[in-house]
Formats: sequence, C-alpha cells, structure tokens
Amino acid sequence: MKNLVNRIEKLEDEIVKKENKKHEKFFINEMKKIGIEKLTYSQSSLKRFIDPETMSVHYNKHYKGYVEKLNLALEKEKFGDLDLENIVRSISKFNKIIRNNAGGAYNHALFWKMLSPTVQKPKELVSQRIIKDFGSFPEFKKKFNEVAKERFGSGWVWLVVTKNNTLKVMSTPNQDNPLMNDVENGGYPILGLDLWEHAYYLKYKNRKEDYIKKFWDVVNWSFVEKLYKMKLETKINEGTVITQLMLESDTTIAEAITSSTKCSPEDEKMFRDLLFPSTQNIVKSNLYRKFKFEYVDGWTKFLKGMYPENWRGKDELFIGHLAGLYEPDNKRSLLNNLTSSYTAFCVIHSDVNLYLEKTNQPKIEYGDNPEENLKQLNRFFTTMEGIKNRLFNKETSNTFKSVNKILMRTDCFGKRNEDAAMKIINENLGEGTCEIIAGTGLSTDMQQGFDAKMTINNETKTGQIKPFKSETIENNLIKIGGSSGAKDYKKVDLLIFVDTKQRIVRVFKTNDVLTKGNEFNFPIVNDVMTLQGSKDLEFINCSEYLS
Ligand code: MN
Repeated sequence: MKNLVNRIEKLEDEIVKKENKKHEKFFINEMKKIGIEKLTYSQSSLKRFIDPETMSVHYNKHYKGYVEKLNLALEKEKFGDLDLENIVRSISKFNKIIRNNAGGAYNHALFWKMLSPTVQKPKELVSQRIIKDFGSFPEFKKKFNEVAKERFGSGWVWLVVTKNNTLKVMSTPNQDNPLMNDVENGGYPILGLDLWEHAYYLKYKNRKEDYIKKFWDVVNWSFVEKLYKMKLETKINEGTVITQLMLESDTTIAEAITSSTKCSPEDEKMFRDLLFPSTQNIVKSNLYRKFKFEYVDGWTKFLKGMYPENWRGKDELFIGHLAGLYEPDNKRSLLNNLTSSYTAFCVIHSDVNLYLEKTNQPKIEYGDNPEENLKQLNRFFTTMEGIKNRLFNKETSNTFKSVNKILMRTDCFGKRNEDAAMKIINENLGEGTCEIIAGTGLSTDMQQGFDAKMTINNETKTGQIKPFKSETIENNLIKIGGSSGAKDYKKVDLLIFVDTKQRIVRVFKTNDVLTKGNEFNFPIVNDVMTLQGSKDLEFINCSEYLS
C-alpha cells in the first residue's frame, strides 16, 4: 500500500514538473532587464536583401552591444528595471549614453520584426492608407527611397503614423526614433530601415541605393499591418476590455442570466484556498498546485479564443512583456488580473452554477479531493465555452460587470497598500529607501510578484507588499493574519506587510515561512523591522470602489 502511494506521488510529481515546464515556457520571458529580441528566422534566410555575415555581425555585435550597454548604463544610474518603450517615449529625461543605446536597442528590436524571409505584399489597411496619403504604392516607395537616400551619416528612415492618423515618411539621425518625446513632428513608427553603414557595407559597399531598393523584397507587411491597427484603435484603458467582453452580445439566446449572484465569505475562502493552496496541502499532493496552472491555462484558451485580436504572444510587440490579453497601448495583461483574483473566480462560478441549476445539470462543486477538483474545473471551462454569449450578453448579464468592478477594486486596494508601505518606509528610513516597481506589467512584477525594492546600507532587496490585520505569537512563530493569498513569495527576499488603518509596516525575510490561506507564520529570526507611519501621510483613496 505504501509503495502504491509513493508511486502515485512520484507520478503526480512528474505531471506537475511537466506542467511547470510548459507553464514556464509559455509565461516566463527570457528577458532580464532590457532583453534581447530573438530572431524568428535564420540569419541566412534574408539573402535576397542581406548576406548572413552582415546579419550575424549586425545582430550579435551591434544590436546586442546596444542592449548590453543600455543595461550597464541603467544600472550605473540606478534606474532599475524600466520598460524599453517607456524609456524611448520619455527619452529627454535620460543622458546621451542611454539615449543612443535605448534607441539602438529599440530600433533594432523593431527592425528584426519588420523583416520577413518570405515575400509579402502590403496588407489591407496599410495599403489603403498608403494610397490615400501618397497617391499610390509606387509613389510611397519613391518617397521612402528619397528620404532614405538623403539621410546624411548614420540614421534611420521611417514610415510613421502621425497624431492625425495619417502616414508620413521621415528620417531620424543616429539611433533616434520618431517616438522619442523630443523628436520634432515625430509619430508612431510602423516601418523602418537601418541606414547605418554597418547594416549594408559588407554586401553593398557604397551602393546604399541598391540596399534601399532591395529592402522592399523583405518587408514583413503583416507586422506593419499589426502595428498600424494597434495604433488606430483608440487608446482605452484595461477596464474597457472587460467592458467590451461584456458587450459582446448574442440576443438570439432567449434564456439568459439576468443577475449576478453574490459570493459569501465562505465561498470566497474556498476559492482562495483553491487558487493559493497552503504549503501543507502542496506537500500532501502537487495536484493542489496543478489547479492554478489549469486555471490559468483555461482562461488563456478561453480569452484567446474569444478575442484573438487582443491576444499578444510573448514575442509580439511588447518588448519584455508577458503573453496575454492586452488593450492597444496598454502594458498590463488582463489575463493576469483575472487569474490572480479569487473573488472574480467566485462570481463567475456562481453564475455558471446558476445556469447549470436552471438547466437541471449538476452544479460545479469543489471539495477536499484535489483530483476531483481538477475534473470540476475542467467542467467549469467546458460549460463556460458553451454559454459564453449568455455570460457576455450586454442587456442581460451582470456577471462581467461584477467581475470588472471586482478587478478595479482589487487593483485599487493593491495600489493603496503599495503606496502606504512605500510612504511609511520612506518616512522612517529616508526618501528612496523603498521604491515601487509593480504595475509595469513586466515579467518581474507579474511572474515573481516583484512589487518593490528596498535599499538599506547600499544593499537592495526585492519585496512583495501585502496587507495584514493581525499579529500574534504562537509556538515560537510570528503569525501574520488577514493578509491576501500567497503567490510566489519565495522568489523575493522580503515580505512587507502593511496595515493602512494603523499605519504599521512589518518586514520579514521570506525563508522558512509557512502559509495557510491568508495567514503567514514566520520563525522569529525572520523578523526584520516594525515601522510606524505618521498621521500626516496620505494614501491612494479607493472609496469609490466600496459600494
Ligand atoms: Mn544597425
């Protein structure tokens, strides 16, 4: 019997390991700090435009050099983790070294994507717009080639979308980009050509004109189209994606859910335990952990299937960001918001169950058997797939309205906690001691729960910020209660708890911590410090979400 149990545990272990790998591959970006964009084609596949030797030197030496030097410069200036596009958009704040290397890193990352090993034709929208703004496609090409030829010295030629949504050709010197805030009459680049000698000299020598002409054989027009579409869609915030999700309607379905049910505190606790299982349960069976992976996977497939145009793979567009469901121009994945909210999970489940009840089918119920829970979760997604139009019905469903509200509320309270912790720490230990880096949408934040950095005596530690309500000592352990579900807290050095009412911050080291739902138990040696904030501190206000 014991043998059998051991074997099952081993098997479960293997399953989860495999799942972990799949998960990591899917989610975890190999990029650290400002990352290197991988080439999606071989260096010899663009021969009709450029030789493999030039490609290799260009990519491995020049481009990687920009990224390396940029990271070095950012480190030296203590800028920490920043997002490349944001650096480019606010370039006037940075010094010349950062300007050149951020530009170089960004321009080339774009450039690699703008090239295609297969011959492509301009796609629908861009092609229509080109004809409208330039008269014809040959006219546009002529203009692009002329501007490229006129660039004296090193630089780039670009096709950009202007503020008025028209297209124009422009050129920038050195490694400048039209997105840079101090570039006059800039715009949003959707196509660009590197005019530095290092890009063509080996093959073309001084025949720059031939190089420019050959460029048209390798343009990745589907990428250009994607960039253009992304720019066209109005800038809307993430809450709107959910609103859009809600507005998707199919009024032909007569029987629809008319009101969103409420979740009881017991329900919420159950869902929290499912998504953030205790250390003890994970030790008992890795199937507890598998639940979260299946949950994320299920939502991924569901949302991706419903909104393919909002889906961004990890190699697309947002350099250094995670795969997920994105608004145009927005850096935070909706998927990530949704999958870390057990309250949202609870609301959607209640409504799915309401439907099952109305149609005389057994409700989805979770219990103590992790294997059975996985089966139930599977049923949840199958059911949801079948009634998605009902759940998303504009006139009749309140499900996603509730979910939207919950996500905005959670988001606000998360920001309030971060804000309060930072202000209390800096008031006590000096401005700049604690720095919030959450909310950037970067993989460091999303995947590792990397909320903040704390620098004491020149030593920088990473931390996760959480609320707490109570502190007691039991069996030589400090018990912190009333917090929120633990997520990947072992990947950071510190857990920073904040009570915004009492204005207290408690800091602990993360090693050897035991968790149970929303409770953390620390060995006394993990206690780093207690800080009290003054009454003058004002924190972000979330009262509008309290109704
Ligand atoms: Mn170059």
